[in-house]
Amino acid sequence: MHGCAGEGMTLNLRMNYQLISNELRSIAEKVNAEQRISEADALTLYRSNDLNALGMIANVVRERKSGNYATYIHNRYINYSNICVLSCQFCAFAAKKRDAHAFEYAIDEIVRVVSDALALGVTEVHMVGGLHPSLKKEWYLDLLSRLRALDPDLHIKAFTAIEVRHLAQRIFRMPIRQTLEILREAGLGSITGGGAEIFDPAVRHQICRGKESAAEWLDVHGTWHSMGGRSTCTMLYGHIETLPQRVDHLRHLRELQDQTNGFTGFVPFAFEPAQSHGILANIKRVSAFEQLRNLAVSRIYLDNIDHLTAYWVSLGLPLAQVSLSYGVDDLHGTILEEKIFHMAGATTPQQQSVAALEHAIREAGREPIQRDSQYRHLNGAKRVERPDERELVCA
Ligand code: SF4
Repeated sequence: MHGCAGEGMTLNLRMNYQLISNELRSIAEKVNAEQRISEADALTLYRSNDLNALGMIANVVRERKSGNYATYIHNRYINYSNICVLSCQFCAFAAKKRDAHAFEYAIDEIVRVVSDALALGVTEVHMVGGLHPSLKKEWYLDLLSRLRALDPDLHIKAFTAIEVRHLAQRIFRMPIRQTLEILREAGLGSITGGGAEIFDPAVRHQICRGKESAAEWLDVHGTWHSMGGRSTCTMLYGHIETLPQRVDHLRHLRELQDQTNGFTGFVPFAFEPAQSHGILANIKRVSAFEQLRNLAVSRIYLDNIDHLTAYWVSLGLPLAQVSLSYGVDDLHGTILEEKIFHMAGATTPQQQSVAALEHAIREAGREPIQRDSQYRHLNGAKRVERPDERELVCA
């Protein structure tokens, strides 16, 4: 059904202009000619209801970059603590030390959980937490080095940009670069893309006052990239932001990527409103239509970021599966226990099996392949499948 990357003729035939509305025709022609689209074009795409045309255009970019492959990673999520000095308005995860739902895992517990996950074949541990006021520098370094000692091939993806800034300024008391160097020395493989939200300062002031600015988020990632590191990038949308503010967010990411080429993939998340209050109290969850449109526009606009991930925790696996025809080439991972979205009220499962992800990809007419943390294909080398995995649920 789908063509392969590099088959230019196939790609040209795939863009059936008769199925693309007039308003999108010139943008489709740009994409077909491998020309960059403008912010005004991105806004036109966001304002279009021609979802199938958006999917068709996004699919050209997707197949040009990834052929018919769709990847997933076998990974384990860990939230080491939800204790946080900030209180972002959208966050249902964070707690103060005195709160009943506050938690903090001991290093021994984290090591045990990761050790169990390694036996299941995970290649990555993905670890973020709140901005903890009192954990010491030695705690973080000990945690990283003990995880690395479990398996030198385990990729430790950890800490959002705001956590890195928190560690640098309040805990390590040293510059960002030096902090990242010390963390890398202890075992950090890559930093996570979280915390970007929407870069516009007026939006940040209302949904995450006190959090780092766009420039500070971009500075942490730019610094990491300048050290040879790679990272992912994100967008939290579907709350109070406008469409021009979404485009502005994507523009910041595309501009940094032009400079560093350090982003491996883009992972947009829809705001989960079940537990929201204050300015976010009456916000409705974005529709499936909007999620597909956002993915397609992101795929078309972010021409310099190779991969687009559908975060099934937010979309649900059925919609993530459909998104494989709307620009997405990656279904994220097995995850094995997601907390942040679920504390906010997400009703999707907390994990997926390799079998469920592969089945979803195959059914969508794509070729499943396990990837590593840099989106490189593993060709089955690391996969460990156990019979009981098949019983894990699909959303
Ligand atoms: S989003 Fe992050 S920084 Fe903000 S309150 Fe939640 S855990 Fe803390």
